[in-house]
Amino acid sequence: MPGLLACRRCGQHKPALDQAPLPGKWGPLILADICADCWHDWIEEQTRLINHERLLPSEPEHRKVLYARMASFLHLDPESV
Ligand SMILES: [Zn+2]
Repeated sequence: MPGLLACRRCGQHKPALDQAPLPGKWGPLILADICADCWHDWIEEQTRLINHERLLPSEPEHRKVLYARMASFLHLDPESV
């Protein structure tokens, strides 16, 4: 059962994710600072971006854009990684 964390995005104490949702440097940051609900909000937003702005996660340049959007959506500091 995942513990509660003080979420950096919504500011509430909510359940964490069970495991890092991404490989690489972002995963542990999100796991430590972002609640499961906010992560799911981002997944929906990401789907919207992929559909509306035709961003392809398989393209490295597009992935950079998506990670930048993710960082601002989740209030993560891109400088900290
Ligand atoms: Zn949250």
